[in-house]
Amino acid sequence: MQLGLNPAALFYFYTMAVNTEVFEQIKEQLNQKGVMLVAVSKIKPPEDILALYQRGQKDFGENYVQEMVEKEILLPKDIRWHFIGHLQSNKVKYIAPFVYLIHGVDSLKLLTEISKQALKAKRTIKVLLQIHIAREATKFGLDEKELKEIMEQWSQQPLPNVEICGLMGMASYSDDKAVIQREFQYLKSLFDQYKNDSFALLSMGMSSDYEMAIENGSNAVRIGSLLFGARAKKN
Ligand SMILES: *Cc1c(COP(=O)(O)O)cnc(C)c1O
Repeated sequence: MQLGLNPAALFYFYTMAVNTEVFEQIKEQLNQKGVMLVAVSKIKPPEDILALYQRGQKDFGENYVQEMVEKEILLPKDIRWHFIGHLQSNKVKYIAPFVYLIHGVDSLKLLTEISKQALKAKRTIKVLLQIHIAREATKFGLDEKELKEIMEQWSQQPLPNVEICGLMGMASYSDDKAVIQREFQYLKSLFDQYKNDSFALLSMGMSSDYEMAIENGSNAVRIGSLLFGARAKKN
């Protein structure tokens, strides 16, 4: 990289770097509340992940299978990799050997494939069921009825080597805090219907809304841009 002595370029370089100060603040804030921090590192280079790893961060979230696989090879083995993107059944096999938690599971078909690949990899894979809570139709997830069907089926006949550990959701892209709050409250109410010792994780909240998510019962937040800076568009 050629930065030269151009102050504007230098400023750009430093503002794009990992924000370790914000990281320490958020870590402290979440520790006090017992909330898990998933540092969302999608599209960010391995060096950025290492910068937080060296400060004690172990949970990192990725959205793209190939990118997560490439980073897993390069980076320390005690990192806990969270897959938070939309996972296609035919790609489960690539992450099954190492993934720690899959946040976005939204069909029985996908659960079945995860079970199959977990058996092959001789391990148990933890998953969260994704619920569609936003107004945008583009977002993925189950509705209340589909959740009920999966949970009923699961209680009768769980698939081997998969643990359903809770729920995940993404609120609408909106400036209207009341809308976002309503969506979080709705997700929390669904979560409470099934909550027990093993169904105990509620993954909701991102950079823009994580504080409100925690106020509404989240115990796992997925934070990217606040920690790593704004993202360039993927390719
Ligand atoms: C990218 C992403 C995040 C992080 O978003 P930020 O706004 O950068 O914090 C969280 N959750 C999911 C599912 C994502 O895709």
